[in-house]
Amino acid sequence: MKELAKTKIVATIGPSSWDEKILKDMIYNGMSIARINASFADFDELKRVSRSIRKLSPRVAVMLDTKGHKIRVTGFEKEKELKTGDTVVILSEDTTYKEPLSDKHIAITYPNLHNEISRHAKILLDDGNILLSVEDIRGEQILCKIEQGGILKPKKTVNIPGTHLNFPSLSEKDEGDIKYAVKNDFDFISASFIRNVQDVAMIREAMGNTDCKLIAKIEDREGLDNFDEILPLVDGIMIARGDMGVELPLEDVPIYQKQMIYKCRNVGKPVIVATQMLESMRENIRPTRAEVSDVANAIMDGTDAVMLSAETSTGKYPVEAVKTMNKIALRVENILKPQKVMGDTSACIETDELCRSLFDMTERVMIKGIVVISVTGKTVRSLSRHRLNIPIWEIAENIKQVRQSGILRGVKTYYLNEFPKDRDKAVKQAVETVYSYGELDLNDKIAIISGSSIKNKSTNTILEIVEVKDIIA
Ligand code: PGA
Ligand code: MN
Repeated sequence: MKELAKTKIVATIGPSSWDEKILKDMIYNGMSIARINASFADFDELKRVSRSIRKLSPRVAVMLDTKGHKIRVTGFEKEKELKTGDTVVILSEDTTYKEPLSDKHIAITYPNLHNEISRHAKILLDDGNILLSVEDIRGEQILCKIEQGGILKPKKTVNIPGTHLNFPSLSEKDEGDIKYAVKNDFDFISASFIRNVQDVAMIREAMGNTDCKLIAKIEDREGLDNFDEILPLVDGIMIARGDMGVELPLEDVPIYQKQMIYKCRNVGKPVIVATQMLESMRENIRPTRAEVSDVANAIMDGTDAVMLSAETSTGKYPVEAVKTMNKIALRVENILKPQKVMGDTSACIETDELCRSLFDMTERVMIKGIVVISVTGKTVRSLSRHRLNIPIWEIAENIKQVRQSGILRGVKTYYLNEFPKDRDKAVKQAVETVYSYGELDLNDKIAIISGSSIKNKSTNTILEIVEVKDIIA
């Protein structure tokens, strides 16, 4: 078995990686979560990739990433040159404007911008590489000055920072994709451009009653401003630095990254740092020094997971990219000190306090690792957030929980068919399982956290410190 880092790796699957041989290699080298981007994938592709993953490993989670409110330019096939200082006209692809469109017209996939935008607003094309400012609005035509020109290729992105756009609720596409993911047993849905609690509510409604987890992607000013209200309603956060870096000043992104990671840890919800982490590996087998530093720093900031996008979906070196992340993570985790956080998680206060006491204890007592017999995964989340140096071995009897815990830093989850009702028997089986994976020696001292099976007590939790040989000898 290869040594895998405590920090987890989310990798996006696409043409470069959907071959099963490559997927297998990516799993071996540390991919815990396979992300499929519904912006580019149709149902056939979702089905094909998720089946491949399931076939290769029941332990790897599958994440569907929604298209969300992404606006793009549309209606032309040949690239356009936009010259700084010139004027262009933005209008909707559904415009009722009748005159023949000229070279100066650029259609976008948003219907009503002329009624929502005002003069002097900024419009950014192609990931922010081209900058327009609105000079005038004439009917459905938005006249813009090109502040920073460039070559505009078909289907490039459009961002309009600082203007609240009234997207017509959940798009048909997103609703269809979300329902598909829930029905087909996906483990996570990562929802793009979550701006407020209403956005979350709409997605929860489309998801219905399900054990699929919802990750909110924070990508713009509104999402950030409403972060504290969004966080309690979702199961985790993705720091979507790609769009965030266009919607907000680039230099603000590292600060928001640190703040969001801290807030997530504080309440024990998983957090993913995403986008351009090893960008140059799309083309090169070795990343830049700056990228290595970015991955290492995200881990020092305390993230649960780091993400690969184009590096693994369309890049040349998908397996190398996963390997590289694992290598960086192993190295930096080695020098990090655990950090206790004080917030309340969704577990009960007794559980949070017990996990904090265990944190304190590991500073003075040599414990090899912590075995958690887990029915809901709450205790594991409460423990993981302190980013201990020792492993947390979760034992779960629900295979979906095994996959979903795969996002938590420092947690290795093993599946047990069914917990024995008797606590001692359950503990013995749990420790035997961890032992059978070669994680333990008989002389190791471990901590075990379990619910109790004492009759008529449904909520108490037991912490036991014991040597392995006393349990399984
Ligand atoms: P995307 O989301 O790759 O779906 O755009 C991530 C980001 O914006 O960083
Ligand atoms: Mn995005």
